[in-house]
Amino acid sequence: MSGKNVSSDFDKFAGNTELKKNVATIIRRGEAAHAYIIEGGQGSGKTMFAHLFAAALICEGKGDGALPCGVCTPCRKVERGVHPDVITVDRGDRATLGIDTIREVRADAFILPSESERKIYIIEDAHLMTKDAQNAFLQVLEEPPSYAVFLLTCTEPLRLLPTVRSRAPTLRLRPLTADEIEEFLLLKEGAKARRLRDSDREGWDELIVASGGMPGVALTLLSGGLKERRRERTLAVKLLCGLISGSSEALVSINPGAGNILRREDAKQLVKDMADALRDMLAVKRSKAAPLCFFAKRDTAQKAAMPYTVADIVRAADAIDELYLSLERNAYVTGALAAAGAKMRQGR
Ligand SMILES: [Zn+2]
Repeated sequence: MSGKNVSSDFDKFAGNTELKKNVATIIRRGEAAHAYIIEGGQGSGKTMFAHLFAAALICEGKGDGALPCGVCTPCRKVERGVHPDVITVDRGDRATLGIDTIREVRADAFILPSESERKIYIIEDAHLMTKDAQNAFLQVLEEPPSYAVFLLTCTEPLRLLPTVRSRAPTLRLRPLTADEIEEFLLLKEGAKARRLRDSDREGWDELIVASGGMPGVALTLLSGGLKERRRERTLAVKLLCGLISGSSEALVSINPGAGNILRREDAKQLVKDMADALRDMLAVKRSKAAPLCFFAKRDTAQKAAMPYTVADIVRAADAIDELYLSLERNAYVTGALAAAGAKMRQGR
């Protein structure tokens, strides 16, 4: 048997087993479409998946071996980011991907590939294309050159025009399970991962759950972000309990962090953490076995939920949903938090 280079084919990509199998089959049969939307959360590995996809399309590996083979010249060039026919399009430091960039892509797409039979464009954060840019893109999507493939990475597919979405099948990257994240970290960052796991089991467990199943987030946490993230998560639970019980003591205790949460993006993360914590608190009240999404340990979730009734938690969850929406509508952070607290305590 020829040596299967597992470090380079789709197996290199953690989780998403079914999707990887389907994509490899489509490519082997030569049935790949001209455009795909690669959708997934922040840190889900969309860009890496797009590169594997691109390599697989132009891989020159023969037979039934791994796809992409990871050893042929095109595969190695894609991996090093130097293949002239695999082109990454991003918005640079701009907030949106504008029509000028897309016009350049469109013009370039009609120039024949230089080394391979295909020319592949990886359009990063495609949901940030302006409406004009999307309309311009649509023109090439409607009648693409036979060799062109567009891979659109995207976190918010609904921001793409329906006409764009209808011409590009969606490949959805799923969050990894806790076991898959663990396996991914041990494979990718062996020594570092083992050191944390063996010296700080609690921190390791918290990292796994705080990653939300996103391999990219897990890597960031492992390479130094964990301490700050733990602080944020602890603060979220403290503030949540302070808001539900209205204890001025609890509210005062979060004051050292209040400076940070006044920033809108930090506040949104905080509110998201509170929503996840509430989901777990409700889960442990209702079932002994329901899986948790926020707390690393069941008894921590039980302890957090103990002082409250199911009705308290449900009411708090409603208030948190509203709080998130009002932050989206640019409400004043401190005022929105106070209003959410008042709503949580109604009828207690
Ligand atoms: Zn190859």
